[in-house]
Amino acid sequence: MTKLRIAIDGPAGAGKSSVSKLIAERLGLSYIDTGALYRCVAFEMIMNDVALDDERGIRRILADLKITFKMEKGRNLVFLNGREVTAQIRTEQVGMLASTASALPFVREALFEMQRRYAEKGGVVMEGRDIGTVIMPEADLKIFLTARPESRADRRQKDIRAAGREDKPYEELLEEIKRRDDQDTQREACPLRPAEDAVLLDNSGMTLEETAAHIGELAEKKMGPGACRRS
Ligand code: C5P
Repeated sequence: MTKLRIAIDGPAGAGKSSVSKLIAERLGLSYIDTGALYRCVAFEMIMNDVALDDERGIRRILADLKITFKMEKGRNLVFLNGREVTAQIRTEQVGMLASTASALPFVREALFEMQRRYAEKGGVVMEGRDIGTVIMPEADLKIFLTARPESRADRRQKDIRAAGREDKPYEELLEEIKRRDDQDTQREACPLRPAEDAVLLDNSGMTLEETAAHIGELAEKKMGPGACRRS
């Protein structure tokens, strides 16, 4: 198995998860969704009524945190302390709290080691906000994937509808995306920004397949032709 390391960073709704999964599958790499780690922390905070200013409570959650992933029929299942939480951690409420909690340096520090273990193993596509800059600066290929906020809100709405979750007005989703962008880019601890050696890719007018094909070509340049197994 190849030890190729691919880092995919970018703002919420840019399609990082779908693209990363596809790339990982085609290149025979494992896929790590680091946002799920922050979402699990936020989910535990909600479930245990732990407030943002309760550092001891959050530290307790971090100390007990055991997160595992399992790929099943193209879905990346997330297990938190032995319980499957794949759908529960996808709500906007959890996403927003994950974004706020992820600005706390001690939260990032606690999750750093976990992420480094995946990076050191290699043969991985990792996606998040600080993969190319902090978690896996040694990555062979770094992509900063973005899209206009309007395109991202539109995709989010389609995802919500496809998943059969409660519908939300487009304007509200757009507002949430902009708020999360502000929080993620303006925080002091590891803000969202492209690594100096990242390839910037705005996929506003591109389909998932076009985006994946483009990244696949860049990966092939690193690995040699024929690396991408078409499915
Ligand atoms: O990617 P996703 O939307 O699931 O991430 C949820 C939140 O977790 C993001 O808004 C971001 O604030 C935080 N996050 C982070 N660093 C990462 C991944 C996610 O700060 N590597």
